[in-house]
This record gives sequence, structure tokens and C-alpha cells, in this order.
Amino acid sequence: MNIIELTPSIFIYQDDNYYLVNSCCVILNSELIFIDTGLNDAVAKKFVNKMKNRTDMKDIKLVLTHAHGDHISGMKPFERCQIIVSKYFRASLNENMKRYGWGEKRKKYYNSLNLDILAEQKTIGDEDNQIIFKQMGGHSLESIYGYFPKDKVLFAGDNLLSKMPQYFPFDNTNLDDWISGLQEWEKMDIDWVVVGHGDVVKKDHITRVREFFEELVLFLERSASEKLSVEQVLSHENCPTYFEEDPENWTNMGIEIYYNRMIE
Ligand SMILES: [Zn+2]
Repeated sequence: MNIIELTPSIFIYQDDNYYLVNSCCVILNSELIFIDTGLNDAVAKKFVNKMKNRTDMKDIKLVLTHAHGDHISGMKPFERCQIIVSKYFRASLNENMKRYGWGEKRKKYYNSLNLDILAEQKTIGDEDNQIIFKQMGGHSLESIYGYFPKDKVLFAGDNLLSKMPQYFPFDNTNLDDWISGLQEWEKMDIDWVVVGHGDVVKKDHITRVREFFEELVLFLERSASEKLSVEQVLSHENCPTYFEEDPENWTNMGIEIYYNRMIE
């Protein structure tokens, strides 16, 4: 297991088995704060044990940035600890269970977990050394992000991806909330962003993504007012293209689903 040390307090495990999904660990005073679990129990256990051994710390907490399977499927090592999630987490999780046909056993398992719901914001640690988690929405209604002021690091969840396009084909994606959140980040003091998938980025990536989404929303609103069909939208010369490679056409997929919801 290759663990990336971003700063002496921040460690990232990136799994190349599924779109470079990241799980993170922040050393905060005398405890370890994990952000997202990664793909399965075995991977999560390995990461947790490595971090416990490395730091000689036992106390752990978990924060889940959102309720998609690639971020919450390694719950085993966290069953007994505090698990911090958005106030919209449970509702979104239930929707996802239906959508992806998760079995009864898995459903019961998630329902048995003791989730600590954050209203709008939650701070862990003391004034000199703290991490703040905040409701954002955007990629999905229950998306939250974290900020660690000491190292000026933002934990974006899937509200920011790198080396691949942004992913927005969900029923509960809201591009207006997403853009507002990105604007908020641009005002913050940030050196590094740990993204949901891909390599850490600098702040300019936030701006490029925000500009892409702004252009896209304007274009889709104009298209809706002109009553264009989805086909016309996708083949339109002004339809924005994403600035990184998009081998699986995520952008078109997102546009199609988002636009259909706009005009329905
Ligand atoms: Zn993801």
C-alpha cells in the first residue's frame, strides 16, 4: 500500500482500482481523523492499521464526504467510532441503495451505524489545531468538505476531481450550489486540495472548474429558453467542453441528464 504524505499531518491513500479514489488521514492532536473509507473493508483496515502503527495513536474518527459507494464501502474498522456525515446523508444513502440495488443485508448494516449528523458545520480539535467540516451540496445533496487551516489544505470530496472530468449525472446534483461552493473555496487560504479522485491540486484548478460550470449553466439556461432538444444542445457549437481528457464522455452524460431535468 503506497501512502502519500502530503504534509507531516496529512496522509492519502489513492486506489488505482477505481478512478484513483482517495481516502485520507489527518493527524489531529492525539487522534486520527479519516476522511472517506475507500473501496472495501480490507483496504480501509490496512490504511487504518498503517496509520495507527506509524503514529502510535489509537483514537480514530471517520468523516464521510458523501454517500456514494466508492467512498463508504470500507466501514468495518470504523464501526465503533464516531462517523460524521451531512444531515442529508441518510436520505441520499437510501436513494442510492434503491438505485444501485444494494441488498437487505447491506441496507441493515448501514442503518445500524451510529452516524453523527453535522447541521451546517462541525469543528474537531482546538483553536490552534482543528479541522472544519461544512455542508456544501453540489455533486450530491449530502456532499460536505473539510478544511485544515494549519496546513491550508482543503478536502473536496467529489466536489473536485483531477486528471478526469467532473462527474455530475446524479438526480441530486445541483450545479448552482456547486458553483457557490467553489466560489467560497476561491476566497479561502488554500495551498493544496485533496480531491475525491485524482492527484492533489492547487487552487487554480478550483477556478478552472468553476469557470467551466458557469459557462455550462449559462449555456444550458439559454438552450432551455430557446427550447432546444438534448440532441441540439450536445451538438451545439457553443456547448462547453471540459479541459481535461474525458475518455468515457462523462461531461456529455452529465449534460444530458442535467438538461433533461431542467426542461422537464
Ligand atoms: Zn467518488
